[in-house]
Amino acid sequence: MTEVLPEFRVVRPATAQEAAAAHRDNEGARYLAGGTDLIPNVRRGIGDPDLLIDLGGIADLKKIEVGANGARIGAGVTLAHLAKNAQIAAAYPAVITAAKSIAGPGHRAAGTVGGNVCLDTRCVFYNQSQWWRESNNFCLKYKGDTCHVAPKSTYCHAAYSGDLAPVLLVMGAQVEVTGPEGSRTIALPDLYGEDGQNYLALKRGEFVTAVLLPKDVLPTVYEKMRVRGAIDFPLAGVAVALRRDGDKIGDLKVAVTGTNSRPFIVEGIEELVGGPLSDEVLDKIGDLVQKQVSPMRTTLVAPFGRRRIAAALARRQASALFAG
Ligand SMILES: Cc1cc2nc3c(=O)[nH]c(=O)nc-3n(C[C@H](O)[C@H](O)[C@H](O)COP(=O)(O)OP(=O)(O)OC[C@H]3O[C@@H](n4cnc5c(N)ncnc54)[C@H](O)[C@@H]3O)c2cc1C
Ligand code: SF4
Repeated sequence: MTEVLPEFRVVRPATAQEAAAAHRDNEGARYLAGGTDLIPNVRRGIGDPDLLIDLGGIADLKKIEVGANGARIGAGVTLAHLAKNAQIAAAYPAVITAAKSIAGPGHRAAGTVGGNVCLDTRCVFYNQSQWWRESNNFCLKYKGDTCHVAPKSTYCHAAYSGDLAPVLLVMGAQVEVTGPEGSRTIALPDLYGEDGQNYLALKRGEFVTAVLLPKDVLPTVYEKMRVRGAIDFPLAGVAVALRRDGDKIGDLKVAVTGTNSRPFIVEGIEELVGGPLSDEVLDKIGDLVQKQVSPMRTTLVAPFGRRRIAAALARRQASALFAG
């Protein structure tokens, strides 16, 4: 069955304030960045927006600035542009690793940092054609009343699967958010919610205008497991940041994407700081990850496997970083 785009209007404001006002004043409006995720979804009948607010006309969103206090990466910077930036590569190489792991070259040429950080959550019952979803009476996330993954659940368990977020989380990133009332800065963990339906904690009209990185970050690595190595979303993606002090762990952070409705920093890891990186400590890292990831039947790969993968990636990366 051919899926054509529904009718909608597109506006292309020149400033963030105009974009925020247009979003506030139009209940059915959606922000459009590169459109690599949004447009396929709209084509499948997901969202049915009557207005798309194209952020591509706002020049300020397309800048990368690296200075004495850290980096400011505009939300409209494309992943391809980010991946080629020498200053980001020198100061934050794991950001480049994550950016290069996203989708394919064509997607990265159009897809943006803001669209990736704000990526819609995914599920095998949601990222489907209109007729497929309709034949299943839709689902709780959109147009239906039951979650097919967890039928007794009152909320959606779709997985957040953006690749940049875990790296940005362990680096202590913040996001600059602009709305009709002006701009504010929030810590990246506060951007996300636990519900796959309402996964972004943004007020009406607000959108992400930049990602802010602190000057000094820990040595960081990112690795994802996916079905197709050439191009695919992470079944589990893990970022580990570790500084070694002699024979001890000087600092350690772990963040995960692809398993829960939000990307998150694994709790309890900080208790391992100051100790050695023994096999027992690596087991503890794996245990903490396994306990806090909650993959559901949102992909064709079994949740049990994704849980084990996340733990194994964290263990392996921590070991590699400690070994230098
Ligand atoms: C075949 C395929 C494979 C893919 N593989 C991956 C992958 O491996 N890893 C991965 O992370 N992604 C993957 N993607 C998804 C997507 O290409 C990327 O996440 C991309 O970075 C999305 O950015 P965009 O600018 O195209 O966002 P859009 O599609 O324009 O928008 C995505 C969502 O974010 C919202 N949005 C956009 N910008 C902002 C903003 N500044 N503030 C607030 N909300 C905003 C939109 O309203 C929409 O809900 C894949 C997509 C496809 C089609
Ligand atoms: S987790 Fe449940 S509610 Fe969410 S998209 Fe999947 S089936 Fe729908």
